[in-house]
Amino acid sequence: MDAHGLADWRLELDHARRRAGACRHPRRTISLSAQLIPLYPEETVRGVVLHEIAHARVGAAHGHDAVWKREARRLGAPDAARLPGSLPAPAAPWVGTCPRCGAQRRLFAAPRRVVACGACARDFRPDLVLTWTHEGVPARPGGAYARELARLIRGGRP
Ligand SMILES: [Zn+2]
Ligand SMILES: [Zn+2]
Repeated sequence: MDAHGLADWRLELDHARRRAGACRHPRRTISLSAQLIPLYPEETVRGVVLHEIAHARVGAAHGHDAVWKREARRLGAPDAARLPGSLPAPAAPWVGTCPRCGAQRRLFAAPRRVVACGACARDFRPDLVLTWTHEGVPARPGGAYARELARLIRGGRP
């Protein structure tokens, strides 16, 4: 960052799982995902950092426009707005499994609603409610999920 004229900018880490880097102009900060960056090859990380440096240098108003692209290329960053989809992703700890077809759905946070398998039933069916594990251990989501499940067991509608 210093080498590209951003000596008065700061670098910080965040917990984003859907984007590797962010450029926060008002705070003069480049933020990298502590979740994703360790999973990526060094060359990709370098590209992410240069991508954000290009944002910092041209200003927020340019987004990913031609001016930003030119700057990204000049710095040696890939000039695509998004990273390739083939990069590794962190595994979501919550896994819901359909009791009939075995289809799985993965979530980063505990489910808040009781859901049935979308592949097996178009409408909600209590007998097709997904069963959940958290980091491989059978788990019962709490809070709103638990209350909704209790209502379903009593025979109410979801
Ligand atoms: Zn960008
Ligand atoms: Zn199913």
